[in-house]
Amino acid sequence: MLKKFGIGALSIGLVFSGIGLGTASAGPPSWAGPPDWAGPGNGNGNGNGNGNNKVENVIYMIPDGFSAPYAANYRTYKGEDAIWDDHLKGLFTTHSADSDITDSAAAGTAMATGEKTNNGVIGLDTEGNELETILEAAEKDGKASGLVATSTITHATPASFATHVEDRNNETEIARQLVDSGVDVMLGGGKNNFLPESEGGNQEEANLIHQATQQGMALVENRDQLAKADVNVEDGEGLLGLFSGGALTPELHRADTEEPSLAAMTETAIDTLEQDKDGFFLTVEGSQIDWAGHANDAAWAMSDTAAFEKAVQEAIEFAEEDGETLVVVAPDHDTGGMTAGANGSMDRNADILQNVTATGGHIASQLNEDRSNVREVVASYTGLTLTQAEVQEIQEADSAESAIKSIVSDKASIGWTSTNHTGADIPVYAFGPKADEFSGFYDNTKLPKIMAEAMKVK
Ligand SMILES: [Zn+2]
Repeated sequence: MLKKFGIGALSIGLVFSGIGLGTASAGPPSWAGPPDWAGPGNGNGNGNGNGNNKVENVIYMIPDGFSAPYAANYRTYKGEDAIWDDHLKGLFTTHSADSDITDSAAAGTAMATGEKTNNGVIGLDTEGNELETILEAAEKDGKASGLVATSTITHATPASFATHVEDRNNETEIARQLVDSGVDVMLGGGKNNFLPESEGGNQEEANLIHQATQQGMALVENRDQLAKADVNVEDGEGLLGLFSGGALTPELHRADTEEPSLAAMTETAIDTLEQDKDGFFLTVEGSQIDWAGHANDAAWAMSDTAAFEKAVQEAIEFAEEDGETLVVVAPDHDTGGMTAGANGSMDRNADILQNVTATGGHIASQLNEDRSNVREVVASYTGLTLTQAEVQEIQEADSAESAIKSIVSDKASIGWTSTNHTGADIPVYAFGPKADEFSGFYDNTKLPKIMAEAMKVK
């Protein structure tokens, strides 16, 4: 009886919201009901159906270390809006249980479980109790699941969705838990964490790749194998892609390797997971935006953001076609305290970073011992002509790498205020059914709760 009444109220609400939509400049009346079903469309601006669709699939995309100044600089770098700009929904806070400024483990745990924990801790509360993650809840509901990252797949952010450890640095334990987790698709770096010491790996004895393949996972190790991967998750098969012993290569240098792009990994993950009739939950991390932020390396940050954007594009294209897929783009915290504009200049010049073809670390490694080739090396990797004072600054610096990155950042009018994370509020973007549920200002712990509600999982 109650149920029936609820449905009646819902349909009345929909009629009212239709009236609201047809009336110029008048939003839905306040008595039309809560915004989850009475809202004007799905808020994606691209019209992929209505806002009342159920959410079958969630693609949770995390550009690690990204924040509003990254978004501003990236727009300048790209020369036009980023794919997420149209889908901005809200802003959230990121502090952890024991620190004003979060690390990626506590942030990942908050974003995966809806609970605060201490920095360094993954999937456990401050007392050490296991917290269920949104991925695990989706699995329990019959959905397929996946993790994709450009770090080791055992790194803090992906680990927060499927493992429970006291110390994020215990990547061998995280690998053991991942193989036992039932996650259907895992793509990233970190092969060494799955192999025994006898094969050059970090596990004492266990060969987790062997275990995973025995459990029905196919192993792929380069982009060609990934492109040809063909597994059926409905038949209990899975896909394990480990494309490097450690982390994957920064996007600036990826073309020199056999590694797949983040977009290619995302596409294969979606293609594989969408076979599950009950839907899927996929987490995709652009891991190295954060590392570029720690390194204060503006070109690395922008190029890895570009790689992440292509992955978001894959997700949104799928969601547009599917109509029941919610795509959420939510960074975990700011890294580096990046600024959009610097040193009193009123210009923004991040577009010059398009000409940079290597990380600061790589550029510095090409200098000869007396650094007499600074001008040529910097010109060949950045397209920048240095002044004599700048050449001298790099030659005399304790760290040539830091000096190069600092000069490149200055020319791009990008400032850095830290080599660690900061406590800046973080923007969230969403596309697809229930996207408007992410509107407003809240705490990072609310993100998985909105997703659980949207998917109707507990
Ligand atoms: Zn992080």
